[in-house]
Amino acid sequence: MTHYFVDKTPLPGGAYELHQEQCQYIPSRSHRIYVGSFSDERAAIMRAEKIFHNVHVCPHCCIHFHRAARAHDAMIR
Ligand SMILES: [Zn+2]
Repeated sequence: MTHYFVDKTPLPGGAYELHQEQCQYIPSRSHRIYVGSFSDERAAIMRAEKIFHNVHVCPHCCIHFHRAARAHDAMIR
């Protein structure tokens, strides 16, 4: 299981970035919200989307899901 956090500060495009706890780009403690502990990224993203509707997975730590999530973004827009 991996702990996931979402950045409280939106990216320039308005999306909130989802990180795994070991990510070197994870925001400091006061700038992140704990999403939960999940065994797969998809579940973490679904939970994060209940906090912020517009969630973008970090390309550095959520590397397996990054490509698929971007395809999903393109589909719903
Ligand atoms: Zn990250």
